Amino acid sequence: MNFQQQLAVVEGLGVPPDTQMRMDCPFCQNKNTFTVTTTSNSIGWYCFHASCSAKGKKNGEKTMEYVNVSFKKEDIKPQEEFKLPDSFKIVHSNDKALQYLHENNCWEACMWGRADIKYDVKQDRVVFLVKNPSTNKYAGAIGRGLNSKVYPKWYMYGNKDIPFKCGECKDAVIVEDCASACAVSNILTGIAIMGTSLKESHKKYLEPYETLYVALDRDATRKSYSIASELTSAGFKNVKVKVLHEYDLKCYGTPEIEKMFYGGKDE
Ligand SMILES: [Zn+2]
Repeated sequence: MNFQQQLAVVEGLGVPPDTQMRMDCPFCQNKNTFTVTTTSNSIGWYCFHASCSAKGKKNGEKTMEYVNVSFKKEDIKPQEEFKLPDSFKIVHSNDKALQYLHENNCWEACMWGRADIKYDVKQDRVVFLVKNPSTNKYAGAIGRGLNSKVYPKWYMYGNKDIPFKCGECKDAVIVEDCASACAVSNILTGIAIMGTSLKESHKKYLEPYETLYVALDRDATRKSYSIASELTSAGFKNVKVKVLHEYDLKCYGTPEIEKMFYGGKDE
């Protein structure tokens, strides 16, 4: 990827000015190997993974303009309604998108209207729409690339502070991505935090539930425990970690999810 392409991806992450952030690398997908550092007029990025060549820096007036325009829009009016781009089409218009939904146990949630899912023809992504629970309007969207050339694998459109929620059950489970949130949604409310870090802004969306499970993907069990203890110290009651021994939640259908959370013998 050349500099301009990398820059476009990094700018798309929406990191505010004067911030240093560590996260999963949008280029090589390795966990927590990527840093972005911004000032009011520069943006720099670097991946620590040996196999990854992502790095770059942009300074100067042009960047400052860009940063101001693109960040202020989202930072000052986080409640603003997200207008669906014209490139979002019905999900049935693309076979790969449908296949993704079937293979990742999202189809049922889509069919029953628990999740609003589109296909972005411009970016070749299956797109999960995020609603603001207090206004019931669209606040943003989260798109999963459908071919290996689409970077980053997951892309956030619009508001990045509201987690993706699927389902209306009394208990909720915090998961890494939208597909897992859809997969559980017949049994539990799925809440996707898009990665393994809970944002401060997510917490207010976690309040109305009786039991709050944390079930990040199998390779992030330690992060599940640290999120659970963070929530408990923030005053949340009844937070439990659900350790996934074999696969991520999106690999399971409804009967298996039910058994795992409510019929299991390992608790
Ligand atoms: Zn990388």
